[in-house]
Amino acid sequence: LASRDFHPDNTVIERKGVRIGGGELVVMGGPCAVETPEQIDEIARLVKAAGGQVLRGGAFKPRTGPYSFQGVGVEGLEMMAEAGRKHGLLTITEVMTPEYVDVCAEHADILQVGTRNMQNFDLLRKLGTIQTPVLLKRGFSATYDEFLNAAEYILAGGNPNVMLCERGIRTFETYTRNTLDLTAIPVLQQLSHLPVISDPSHGTGRRELVETMCKASVAAGADGLIVEMHTDPDNSMTGDGVQSLFPDQFAKLLQDLEKLAPLC
Ligand code: PEP
Ligand code: MN
Repeated sequence: LASRDFHPDNTVIERKGVRIGGGELVVMGGPCAVETPEQIDEIARLVKAAGGQVLRGGAFKPRTGPYSFQGVGVEGLEMMAEAGRKHGLLTITEVMTPEYVDVCAEHADILQVGTRNMQNFDLLRKLGTIQTPVLLKRGFSATYDEFLNAAEYILAGGNPNVMLCERGIRTFETYTRNTLDLTAIPVLQQLSHLPVISDPSHGTGRRELVETMCKASVAAGADGLIVEMHTDPDNSMTGDGVQSLFPDQFAKLLQDLEKLAPLC
């Protein structure tokens, strides 16, 4: 079902008037993690003011170590939903287990499957039983075929609203956190009809590279971008402050992007 042979026309995912994959660029911006109501409210205001359409933020964080901050949980979903409503933004948040799919879908407009869960087949099957759009991140060592097969699990269950996200893969290079595989963008668009989103924040792990790689992603044909932005990155509660843009950098990025492609 993910294959373009089966479905020649591009899939367009529509949610509250925002059309993802319809030729206009969607920009999802926000912190790695939801921290407090004030933090997410202020960041939502800045995302909206800059021209973004979707507020990102994790309430459940898949941390590499068990002693790291794990996210604020269901309260974070509520804080984010409120900020999204108030500022007129869609929201996207990560869901890590099948048991939490329903509560996450009640609060968020789009559900994110993280790179570490790309082959969590129970989670994918559960996401196939609802209609909420899913942003499926590529596993950091997944081939295109494995990635598309993961999407297939969701589609096969009956949820057609899947977008694919390139977020960098693991290579021998250690200067960047991951290696953003720009080739994935045209390849996935040739093989599949699903919208393709690029995540240069996790793809590079370095703030100073995010702007360039966002533009490169758009030049490569990405349907959208997901970008970490924080008002106080140095004191953010996950290690992802180093890859988070400052609000003024985010605003400038969107101004530049508008010259490359119309925003949704
Ligand atoms: C995130 O978006 O904050 C995240 C944890 O991403 P990934 O699953 O790509 O590491
Ligand atoms: Mn992050």
